[in-house]
Amino acid sequence: MGFQERYERVLADVAACCAQVGRDPREVRVVAVSKAADADALGRAIAAGVRDFGENRPDPLLERSARFPGQAWHFIGNIQSRRIPDIVRSSTLVHSLFQERHAAKFEAAAAEVGKVQDVLLEVNVSGEASKSGLAPEDVSAMLARCASLPHVRVRGLMTMAPQGDLAMARECFEGLARLRDELRSGLDGERAAQFNDLSMGMSEDWREAVAAGATIVRIGRALFDDSFGGDPRS
Ligand SMILES: *Cc1c(COP(=O)(O)O)cnc(C)c1O
Repeated sequence: MGFQERYERVLADVAACCAQVGRDPREVRVVAVSKAADADALGRAIAAGVRDFGENRPDPLLERSARFPGQAWHFIGNIQSRRIPDIVRSSTLVHSLFQERHAAKFEAAAAEVGKVQDVLLEVNVSGEASKSGLAPEDVSAMLARCASLPHVRVRGLMTMAPQGDLAMARECFEGLARLRDELRSGLDGERAAQFNDLSMGMSEDWREAVAAGATIVRIGRALFDDSFGGDPRS
């Protein structure tokens, strides 16, 4: 199976999952995580119509976003302070902000280039020690902190589920959706309307995420790796 076929299959599956839970598939953006894809694979993805790409390291993000400025580039990786200006220069949406000191650096870097940087706050819903992100009870304070930064706009939340247990993943995604709803109910009209995104779900668990309300799924292997098994239940 080639990229085009895998991509069309994922889009059809997204539509089917949405239909099952009464959602509009246009509410779900598929971000193709290209961190393990070479230049040829990237070219095939663009030819197949992929608009959104995710990278977890600043160097490929910089290089690829400069080469393909017509696509949307998502930074989904670990944030290092000194790379924040590069991330701001090259990303449409940053999924992985959770430290206050980084928020202040994003503010400075975005102001410098005259941009408002869209970000998501990463939340460690499951509480696993190996995962990064804010504890759910700390998200409200971080949101308030970011509200004072005119060049940083928080568009929603991101999480990574525990691996290998789809029921637990589903619970984790539902927890993130509830947290988004709670936080949104405390925001005023315009802020509330902008605070909507839920970035959750990867190759193995994106169906659970869509059912729980994901607006962005981040899919790598199921798109780029022909040996990926697909739906573990089928
Ligand atoms: C690699 C990665 C993905 C994609 O993972 P797959 O299992 O290949 O779909 C999604 N999100 C983040 C943060 C990642 O690092």
